[in-house]
Amino acid sequence: MEPLAIDGGTPVRTRPFPEWPIYGEAEERHLLEVLHSGKWGGTGRVKLPEFEERFAALHGAAHAVTVVNGTVGITVALLAAGVGPGDEVIMPPYTFIATATSALLFGAIPVFADVEPDTLLLDPDKVEALITPKTKAVVTVHIGGAPSDMTRLKAIAERHRLALIEDSAQAVGAQWEGKGVGAIGDLGTFSFQSSKNINAGEGGIILTNDKALADMAWSLVNVGRIREGAWYQHEHIGWNLRMTEFQAAVLLGQMTRLEEQMERRERNGRLLTELLEDVEGIETLRRDPRITRHAYHLYIFKLAPELADRVDKNEVVRRIGAEGIPVAPGYVSLNRNRAVIREIEQRTGERRPYHCPVSERACEKEALWLHQQVLLGEEADMYDVAKAVKKVVAPLAAGSFGPA
Ligand SMILES: *Cc1c(COP(=O)(O)O)cnc(C)c1O
Repeated sequence: MEPLAIDGGTPVRTRPFPEWPIYGEAEERHLLEVLHSGKWGGTGRVKLPEFEERFAALHGAAHAVTVVNGTVGITVALLAAGVGPGDEVIMPPYTFIATATSALLFGAIPVFADVEPDTLLLDPDKVEALITPKTKAVVTVHIGGAPSDMTRLKAIAERHRLALIEDSAQAVGAQWEGKGVGAIGDLGTFSFQSSKNINAGEGGIILTNDKALADMAWSLVNVGRIREGAWYQHEHIGWNLRMTEFQAAVLLGQMTRLEEQMERRERNGRLLTELLEDVEGIETLRRDPRITRHAYHLYIFKLAPELADRVDKNEVVRRIGAEGIPVAPGYVSLNRNRAVIREIEQRTGERRPYHCPVSERACEKEALWLHQQVLLGEEADMYDVAKAVKKVVAPLAAGSFGPA
């Protein structure tokens, strides 16, 4: 057997994967236009309206409000939907911490509903079981760029009169049954933080098809002003959460490459699934056929349960990394995050029982990630990924040796 790179063998690959961010002449042109306009702030009308229109159109939304980042985008969406301090917000624990902090920021209480084992997306059955009279909203997360089951989540939200918010930070351009994410629930939020599929360093946007919700979100982002009101007319308590013209300029540039990059990630993502499906000890995630577009912000795959129980996931990550493939172990399940638990305990006065075994197992033992820029490589790069995963995992699955 070929020795592993970590044991001094030859790595599968030494060439780097594509760098991120990717930018060019389009960003430069738009940025200079903003610079020379002298209208740099979020009240400018230089590039922001065009970006908002294009982004809304891409997802089939009627309204868009840009905002400083994805985290407060969720906060504003929750507040616009009428969620207040003490209200419960059901969300998955397999997500970035911002999904929870966006609610905790104003005293709303995250309630964690476990994810489905074969998709790692919010499990609608678990959501329904956790609804109480205090529940006001569901925040679903399209993790890795895979839309969650919007058909069932929407039906549940409607039946129980809950607001449905899509945390689409990782899912720019993704579609569920041909409909753009972020425009299916009541409100959808996106992030343009540096790692995201289109980025402006920082930034965010809120989408909705409901004019009243859009107006409220706009007001909260614009110090409580109303759209047609006077400058010092503040009808609500809002904050200055505006994104700047410079960010809109960069994002208009980023959007010129989005379609081509989405097609490439989609092609490489599907190929990688085909290649990894055949590797013993690896499980790929199920892709619901109603996902008509996957954004592949992350390519997530798993160690098979029997193997995951025997080996240390972080050791597998190190071994695959040494073969030249930048694989990552991913999140800590939010129901296991001490700061989140402490904050919920302080706000509710009780220690809540958390039961999210699927998310916990995924975080601690099973899930492995590749970041989106890996999928921007060539077809041959996907063969390298699969080869390295197989080289590391096959001997472990065969039980010939195990990590320390
Ligand atoms: C990035 C991200 C956010 C937060 O976005 P910021 O712009 O960094 O505040 C929220 N939710 C998810 C799932 C994310 O990946």
